[in-house]
Amino acid sequence: MARRLLIAGGGIGGLAAALAAARAGWQVQVLEQAAAFSEVGAGVQLGPNATRVLRDLGRLDVVRHAACVPQRLVARDARRGHVLGTLPLGSDFEARYGAPYLTVHRADLHAALLQGVQELPIGLHPDCPLVAVQDTAEGVRVLTAGGRALDGEALVGADGLWSLVRGSVVTDGAPLPSDHVAYRALIPMDRLPAAWQAQEVTAWLGPHLHAVTYPVRGGALLNLVCVVRQPLAGPRSGWDLPGTAQRLRAALGDVCPPLEQAMEAAPGWGLWVLHDRAPVVGAHQMARGRVALLGDAAHPMRPYLAQGAAMALEDARALGRSLEGVRGANPDVQAALQRYARERWPRVARVQRRSLRNATIFHATGLLRFARDRVMQVPRVMDVPWLYAHGAR
Ligand SMILES: Cc1cc2nc3c(=O)[nH]c(=O)nc-3n(C[C@H](O)[C@H](O)[C@H](O)COP(=O)(O)OP(=O)(O)OC[C@H]3O[C@@H](n4cnc5c(N)ncnc54)[C@H](O)[C@@H]3O)c2cc1C
Repeated sequence: MARRLLIAGGGIGGLAAALAAARAGWQVQVLEQAAAFSEVGAGVQLGPNATRVLRDLGRLDVVRHAACVPQRLVARDARRGHVLGTLPLGSDFEARYGAPYLTVHRADLHAALLQGVQELPIGLHPDCPLVAVQDTAEGVRVLTAGGRALDGEALVGADGLWSLVRGSVVTDGAPLPSDHVAYRALIPMDRLPAAWQAQEVTAWLGPHLHAVTYPVRGGALLNLVCVVRQPLAGPRSGWDLPGTAQRLRAALGDVCPPLEQAMEAAPGWGLWVLHDRAPVVGAHQMARGRVALLGDAAHPMRPYLAQGAAMALEDARALGRSLEGVRGANPDVQAALQRYARERWPRVARVQRRSLRNATIFHATGLLRFARDRVMQVPRVMDVPWLYAHGAR
C-alpha cells in the first residue's frame, strides 16, 4: 500500500522532493501558499552535484534544453577588470565529474520539475498556505488557511527561509538578517556588446563587494547579481524587494568598464537581504518524529558557493532513497526520516560553512585580498571536488 507524504512548499526543493518520493512509491500531496506553482527570481548555477540529481530524477535533458553550458569560470578584479584565475568548465570538466555545469533561469528549472511532477499522480494544491502542524505517533495532520485538514504518514517542510514547518523540528526563531544585500538584474543580451555573449560564469571580486554574471535562457539573457554590504532599513523579507540603481551605485563605488556597461544596460533591479542561520549541528535539526526539513527551511546559506538550490536537490534525492526503504518489510517512517537527516546534516553543514568562508574571501581587503589574488593563479584552485563529485557512482 502506498504511503502518504505531505510536502509544504512547491519551490525547487518541494517539487524535487515530490518527484523523488513519488518515484519511491509514495502518494504525494504538495501544498503551496502562492496562487500558482511558479518561480520568481533570476538565474541559478547548477554544479555537477546538482545536475546529477536532475538526471536521477529524469529532468536533466529538459533543464539542459533551456540552460547554458558555460565553458569556464573566471574570477576578475571588479575595480580594474583583470583576470585573477580561471577554471575550465567545458567537456573535460563534464567528463571528470560525469555531469555538466549549467546556468539556468530559476523559472525554467522550476518549470522542468513541475512538468515532471505533472506526469505523475502527485496532488498539487496551490493557494493552500499551511498554518499548523499536528505530529502524533499515528500520523501527521496539517491545517491550511482555508480550513482544510490533510493527513499523512510524514510531512516534509520545503517551505523556504521563513518556514512554518521548521517550528515542529527546531525552536530557534526567525533567521537573522545579515548586512549583505543582493541586487539582481536580468539583461537582454542584445542590449550588450558582443563580448558578453561568451559562455562564461564570471565572479567580479572587490573590497566589500562581489558581482556574478552568466548567461541564461539559451543565452538570451545575462544574469547579473551584485552583493554588497549595506545595512537596510524597512522591509527585509522576500525575494523581490524593489532595488534602486542609485543605492547599488553608492554601495559599489567605481567598477571596471565592462561591469559598468552591464549595470547601465540593466532594465531594473530587484533586491533581497541575505539572511543567516548558524550551520546545522546535528540530525536533530533536520528531522523529528514524522516531520523532516529540506532546502532553505533546513539550512539557508549565503549564495557565495552557489549551492542553495543544489543542496535542496541533493536533499530531495536522499529523502526519496530513505523513503524507498519504508515500502517493504520495514514500515518505520520515523526511522526513515532519521536516516535522511543523519545522511544530510554533515554535508549541508559543510557547504554552509564554506559559503560563509567564501564571503570573507570574495569581499577581502588589504593583505587577505593580496594573498587571495596570488592563490587564484594556482590552476584548479577554484575547483571543489568534494562538492561536485557528491553522488557520483
Ligand atoms: C542571490 C542569490 C543567488 C543564488 N544563487 C544560487 C545558485 O547559483 N545556485 C544554487 O544552487 N542556489 C542559489 N541560491 C539559493 C537558492 O535560490 C535557494 O537555496 C533555493 O531556491 C531554495 O529552495 P527551497 O525550495 O528550499 O525554497 P524556496 O525556493 O524559498 O521555496 C519555498 C516554497 O514554499 C512556499 N511556502 C512558504 N511558506 C509556505 C506555507 N506556510 N505553506 C505553503 N507553502 C509555503 C513558498 O511560496 C515557496 O514556493 C541563490 C540565492 C540567492 C539569494
